[in-house]
Amino acid sequence: MSKLRFDVVKDAFKKKAVNVEPPSPKVSDYFGELVFGREKMRQYLDETTFSKICDCIDNGTALDRATADKVADGMKIWSMEHGVTHISHWFQPLTEVTAEKHDSFMDYDGKGGMIESFDGKALVQQEPDASSFPSGGIRATFEARGYTAWDPTSPVFIQGDTLCIPSVFISYTGEALDYKTPLKKSLRAVNDAALPVCRLFDSNVRKVYSYLGWEQEYFLIDEDLYASRPDLMLSGRTLMGHPSSKNQQLDDHYFGAIPSRVAAFMRDIEMAGFKLGIPLKTMHNEAAPNQFEMAPIYGEANLANDQNQIMMNVMISTARRHGFVVLFHEKPFEGINGSGKHNNWSLGTDTGTQLLAPGHDPKSNLQFLTFFVNTLAAVQKHNALLKASIASATNAHRLGANEAPPAIVSAFLGQTMTDVLHKFLEMPSDTPIEITGKRGKNIGLLGIPEIFVDNTDRNRTSPFAFTGNRFEFRAVGASANCAGAMTTLNSAVAEQLIEFKAVVDKEMACGKPVNIAVMDALKPIVASILNVVCFDGNGYSDEWVLEARHRGLDIETNVPKMFKTFTEDKAVEMFTRLGVYTRKELEARNEVRWDTYCKKVQIEARVTGRMAINHIIPAAIAYQTELLKNIDLMRVNFPDNFREMAVTPIGIVSEISSLVKEIKERVDAMVAQRVVANNISDDYEKALAYHDIAESLFPIRRAIDQLEELTDNDMWPLPKYREILFIN
Ligand code: ADP
Ligand code: MG
Repeated sequence: MSKLRFDVVKDAFKKKAVNVEPPSPKVSDYFGELVFGREKMRQYLDETTFSKICDCIDNGTALDRATADKVADGMKIWSMEHGVTHISHWFQPLTEVTAEKHDSFMDYDGKGGMIESFDGKALVQQEPDASSFPSGGIRATFEARGYTAWDPTSPVFIQGDTLCIPSVFISYTGEALDYKTPLKKSLRAVNDAALPVCRLFDSNVRKVYSYLGWEQEYFLIDEDLYASRPDLMLSGRTLMGHPSSKNQQLDDHYFGAIPSRVAAFMRDIEMAGFKLGIPLKTMHNEAAPNQFEMAPIYGEANLANDQNQIMMNVMISTARRHGFVVLFHEKPFEGINGSGKHNNWSLGTDTGTQLLAPGHDPKSNLQFLTFFVNTLAAVQKHNALLKASIASATNAHRLGANEAPPAIVSAFLGQTMTDVLHKFLEMPSDTPIEITGKRGKNIGLLGIPEIFVDNTDRNRTSPFAFTGNRFEFRAVGASANCAGAMTTLNSAVAEQLIEFKAVVDKEMACGKPVNIAVMDALKPIVASILNVVCFDGNGYSDEWVLEARHRGLDIETNVPKMFKTFTEDKAVEMFTRLGVYTRKELEARNEVRWDTYCKKVQIEARVTGRMAINHIIPAAIAYQTELLKNIDLMRVNFPDNFREMAVTPIGIVSEISSLVKEIKERVDAMVAQRVVANNISDDYEKALAYHDIAESLFPIRRAIDQLEELTDNDMWPLPKYREILFIN
């Protein structure tokens, strides 16, 4: 057993990089070659069809059947040139992975032969027999019908021999069963709400976009080492393992030279991403050993989120070619950093204005402040809901731990913006807002330097940080679909902007000019947020928890309880008013959340129990037997002072005994707890019971980790942290 462990480690250590040549040294030569974007459309569709599909993408106009047929035909011709034989609607059910249902192009030609066929109907809609996807009781299993419908705003793409069609997934009765549908609804809501506000400043604006720039953190683990850890294979994280003597304390991995095997993997996924039209920009080492990060250039939120989901799939499959397994779990290893997916969020107009970037004249600065302040107000009002939107059984191990955003949603502004808001409160409402000049040279009243973007202070402890031209929602988990967080954030901001506009309208009805009306409407909001949601201090400190409670921010750490926020009046009113979720959808989604939570903890609990009984205790007892043999030999050979001579083995034997006893008793108790939990029929109550089970895994792990420290290294059955984390 242990021989095997060392062989695996040694072989993994010797593995060499698998370098893959790019199709061309120039990325622009092959960028987007596997997506049917506008260039391809122009090439493969006639002029009328092309302009109709563009109108559909840009303005949401419905596509008639005849046009859909023509679009499908163009897609078929293009994709067959790339060897495609199948189509699949590609959608994002309420699991952590995307789903596909492949249909081949093949069909009868009506003359006894076969043809390749793909028409508008197949493009627009598919009916997967998808009764097993989570629906939270919206779709009883006997009513298996769920529909996927093409989302023309995200281009179809080729994966292997399949043409993938980004789609929404809805039930027979029209409820959303996926992440994409509500995200798209929230994007519409934020556009509808932001547009009238933008028009206060610029009547030319026709559309407001919500942007997303995701940063994906992940671990790469050698696949042979992964295969020797049942916990990693089944739960995505190590459920036991003593921290390595060396981990990230020297900061020698962060932004360090990328190991050659990893660099080859990164080049490979980058190439795959480029072919799929994904503008990947950054790849680097992260803080923890074997932890890395990737980020593209930001884009429109729906498309950017699809691209994140596509990249996660690409990473999973490409990793195997390099002898790696990629981990998206938020906390695969204790004692070192976990993985998040920072969601950089902003709003912008079709006229090219970044609404969360300081402007160049008083008018655009006031516009910036309007969106900046309203975003903060939205985050304040819905801080509990935003936290619920990123909560999961897996992210729970990262939040509140001492290296990740705390389980309290507050916002980091930085000194410059904090000063700006304080000054803003004091100035008369007819003061023109100048935000110009470089740092240290405050020529404007508010003195926001132009080089601001590069200047914002860094605060890694904040879950929601302003970073110059955007907010960075850092609490999102690495395995999550960004849509969950982005739907909630866009909705909250939309609701706030609607309320804000109503106040401005009232002020203007009293005869105030726009700028004064806006400033008068903003002031009470600024006053209400500065000492509540805005917090630039240390989010990891214990004092912050007390302070946050005092400020009225949500400090709940129990994940099943957090989910309750989704069905509280405040959330239901907002989501239903904006048309993002119905009450039924919100309730159904919570059922799914609680159910998923229970299942995840259940898997971890089972694996912990079985590994404890089948791997750990036998190894410890075997070592104990060796020690006892030694003690016996001591007694025979040194009868006079045997107790003194055998003091160490006797001590270890007794420590092992008590740890083994403790582990066995705790595992038995935890199994009994599961039996009780499994008999609870209410989803919420059951999730609460499973929350307690999750807690009961900690002391079991503690005892196992102590045994790892005591037991003969040769006899330990699992690869250790030091063996897993430094091989790449
Ligand atoms: P850091 O690690 O310093 O936070 P990165 O460069 O890794 O920064 O990632 C920043 C992400 O934010 C990138 O995806 C980038 O495209 C994105 N981003 C930049 N400006 C905006 C913006 N205005 N709106 C949304 N995302 C943005
Ligand atoms: Mg970042």
